Amino acid sequence: MHWLFGDQLGPHFLTPGDCGPGRDTPLLMIEARSVFRRRRFHRAKAHLVLSAMRHRAVELGDRVTYVRADTYREGLERAAAGRPVTVHHPTSYAAVRLVRSLPRVSMGPARGFMVAMDDFAQWADGHGGGRLRQEDFYRWVRRSHDLLMDGGAPAGDRWNLDHDNRQPPPGDASTLQVPPPYRPREDGIDDEVRHDLDRWESDGDVSFVGRDGPRAFPASRAEARAALKRFLIHRLPTFGPYEDAVLAADPVMSHSLLSSSLNLGLLDPAECAEQAEAEWRTGRAPLNSVEGFVRQIAGWREYVWQLYWYFGEEYRHSNVLRHTAPLPGWWNGLDADAVEARCLHTVLAQVRDTGWTHHIPRLMILGSYALQRGWDPAAVMDWFHRCFVDGYDWVMVPNVVGMSQYADGGRMTTKPYTSGGAYVHRMSDLCGPCRYRPGDRTGERACPYTSGYWAFLDRHRERLVHNHRTARPVRRLERLAGLDEVRHRERTRGDAPP
Ligand SMILES: Cc1cc2nc3c(=O)[nH]c(=O)nc-3n(C[C@H](O)[C@H](O)[C@H](O)COP(=O)(O)OP(=O)(O)OC[C@H]3O[C@@H](n4cnc5c(N)ncnc54)[C@H](O)[C@@H]3O)c2cc1C
Repeated sequence: MHWLFGDQLGPHFLTPGDCGPGRDTPLLMIEARSVFRRRRFHRAKAHLVLSAMRHRAVELGDRVTYVRADTYREGLERAAAGRPVTVHHPTSYAAVRLVRSLPRVSMGPARGFMVAMDDFAQWADGHGGGRLRQEDFYRWVRRSHDLLMDGGAPAGDRWNLDHDNRQPPPGDASTLQVPPPYRPREDGIDDEVRHDLDRWESDGDVSFVGRDGPRAFPASRAEARAALKRFLIHRLPTFGPYEDAVLAADPVMSHSLLSSSLNLGLLDPAECAEQAEAEWRTGRAPLNSVEGFVRQIAGWREYVWQLYWYFGEEYRHSNVLRHTAPLPGWWNGLDADAVEARCLHTVLAQVRDTGWTHHIPRLMILGSYALQRGWDPAAVMDWFHRCFVDGYDWVMVPNVVGMSQYADGGRMTTKPYTSGGAYVHRMSDLCGPCRYRPGDRTGERACPYTSGYWAFLDRHRERLVHNHRTARPVRRLERLAGLDEVRHRERTRGDAPP
């Protein structure tokens, strides 16, 4: 028997080789209720995962035994009944431990990523191991996969077109005015999932946060392919320039919305990167957009996956800034209406309503707020994991502990990602009607991000003055007017929503 986890749903998990199943090998899928009991997930996420698993089971028909059990262990015992089982390397340390503890289960290499773990380890060891650079890794992947290459040189003679891709939102427009993204149509499987989730909740067995509106993300390979196609044709050309911009009325802008499909294993990252390259080769999309997208998939996504394993299991407990504050109730409950700061209100509402928001709101609005307030990075990570439709342990640990909370002291990024309101104001239309003023760090209308930024630098000045990327603003603290008021404001802010 071959066991498919719920994030191994695409055809590339069924091709033979490397512990993969033979053409007629019976398949096993286990829906374990205990997973939903362990954490208070966003309901849209629980819906998506269950819907995707059940859609896959219907596609596989008689070949699959689909077990609904309390735990994976129980499901396996019931369905495999002593038979040998193969499985592809799962995507978390906990799942690997479980698989290793099970008798007669053998584990093959991971699928669904472009670089083998051993190849990465060799590359990283050869690059000093400790201070790795995503840019070096990305170039190595481009070369070794012949992605956007012209012979030995990068297409267009530049590896990195980020410079063209950091534009603020265009003019006065409230939306990017590009064709909307693909949205799936729900079917009977979704009705059944919704019914089951209602029942579990009313039994008091599990509890969710967030709204389970019409399913917004693909749950089958066919839907995921349609989403990819629509993105490539209609939205990739404008992906690049406004990648970092945020518009209140246009949460998706030109982003692909493909992360949940990639992380469920419905899409293979190589097919996404290669098809994006083809759009440039045939002149349908400009290089800055295509390079920007390929960098996200073949650079960032791959890098994050590899670091999760390379840094080891202890990495998740990193907390060099010694941040220990708990998350407040309004944050945990996604109570966007309690928040007056317009940027945080808008983004928290997006998370509440859809379980998704794009990269810059995650990093510079949600993550930055948590970092400035000194919240426990492990709790922040758990929150992102529970509340985002694309959240899995492997992708959360480096993104939250490393990139967003700087809890690893700079192993993943060269500086903490946080800013005052001025950055948010420059890159979005969120600040205009806000009751706070992005430029104010003191007074009635002081922006919580601006006072939070200076208070954060102040609290960690000894560490950050030695970092060449933060030394200058830390030195500014010496002459910063109103610093005492900033300190007082942040010390007494407590748990209240801003
Ligand atoms: C605090 C924080 C938490 C995050 N949590 C997740 C998460 O749980 N799951 C997740 O897939 N991504 C996560 N990301 C990365 C990124 O924000 C999302 O992948 C992206 O916003 C998803 O939207 P999209 O598919 O429209 O992406 P696009 O902007 O269209 O990018 C294309 C693809 O690139 C990949 N990608 C880009 N950056 C990253 C990255 N840093 N890590 C992994 N993949 C990346 C994704 O697969 C994404 O679909 C997180 C980032 C931060 C800062």
